[in-house]
Amino acid sequence: MSIDIWPARTSSDLNSYYPNSSSGNEINLREEFIKLIDGTSCDPQRGHWVLLKRISTRQRCSCWERVGEGEFQYSEDNRKYPEPDPRCTVCNGEGWIYKEELYKTRRRIITPPEGQGSMEKQTDFGLVNVPLIIYYFKNYVRPTEYDRIIEIDNNEDGSPLKPIVKRDTYSIITSEPFRDINGRIEYWRCATKKEELRFGESQ
Ligand SMILES: [Zn+2]
Repeated sequence: MSIDIWPARTSSDLNSYYPNSSSGNEINLREEFIKLIDGTSCDPQRGHWVLLKRISTRQRCSCWERVGEGEFQYSEDNRKYPEPDPRCTVCNGEGWIYKEELYKTRRRIITPPEGQGSMEKQTDFGLVNVPLIIYYFKNYVRPTEYDRIIEIDNNEDGSPLKPIVKRDTYSIITSEPFRDINGRIEYWRCATKKEELRFGESQ
């Protein structure tokens, strides 16, 4: 079990190799995680706010496979395969309807050791070690592989800066719930990769 998202604790807090048999003595990971993200009266908030761009795959944007009419006949009809309009102001070229929601998260960066072939990416100038960024979310967030995470500016007091200032976008490669006692979801773990800039600007 990977728990190194938690800050260092004293040795007396650490989980024993021989846990008590009573479930009342089990560590409640969901509660611990919420305390870590939100902070308590004794501990500071260790989460930060991001936007979760939730893509609804049930509804295509109106720009999907749009057929041009009149003077736009050729400018819009030259697409070979069904695809969205990259300049669409509704979906920003996603092709799906989406909404953006604010969540507090915690993240860490995993750079795989050199030589792990599967983690490296062939590019024009050679092999590149691609860092994976792991995001953790509370039990009720339920992110999916269709969604994206957008870093935003946070205030010094830990609140999101308004109006929202968007920074880097991360696409989710895998989103897995961490389940514990009786299969209850304690938190979500998303492995992500930073997105390249598209169409010359970040969205
Ligand atoms: Zn669209």
